[in-house]
Amino acid sequence: MYVLLRQLSRIRRDADISVPKRRISAAMRHVDSGSCNGCEQELEALSNPFYDLQRYGITMVASPRHADILVVTGTVTTRMEGPLRLAYGAMPEPRIVAAIGNCAIGAGVIGEAECLVGDVSMVLPVDIRIPGCPPTPDAIASALLRALGESSTSLPR
Ligand code: SF4
Repeated sequence: MYVLLRQLSRIRRDADISVPKRRISAAMRHVDSGSCNGCEQELEALSNPFYDLQRYGITMVASPRHADILVVTGTVTTRMEGPLRLAYGAMPEPRIVAAIGNCAIGAGVIGEAECLVGDVSMVLPVDIRIPGCPPTPDAIASALLRALGESSTSLPR
């Protein structure tokens, strides 16, 4: 076990993933508003032992009522517009919306269709935009941490 922990620590050091200095935490709720699941795979990777986003104090929660950040992936479909608004409405203030991936920020491969509302900003106020198709776990983590650092005073814990 000790050897494994040492190896993990070396991998993190080599990958330049350092232990954060911030002392606040944030809870995320994810809504897939119509993605291809590519962005979800990268988002899920943030919870694995390598990226281990939890050590930064950021955790995924099941209910938007407990969330500080609403993470949205995919172009918003007409069927998901309502649930997306409901999730946002259930969140306590201050709340942050992060649009993850080209589809969510309006630069995706999916064009216009009758079943689509559009990108996330057409439904909710977007605070964090993370481009990529899909964005890497590193890109997602750094954008979230950057945004939290800037708005740390608005996330009391
Ligand atoms: S940005 Fe790319 S990976 Fe993400 S949902 Fe759209 S097509 Fe899929």
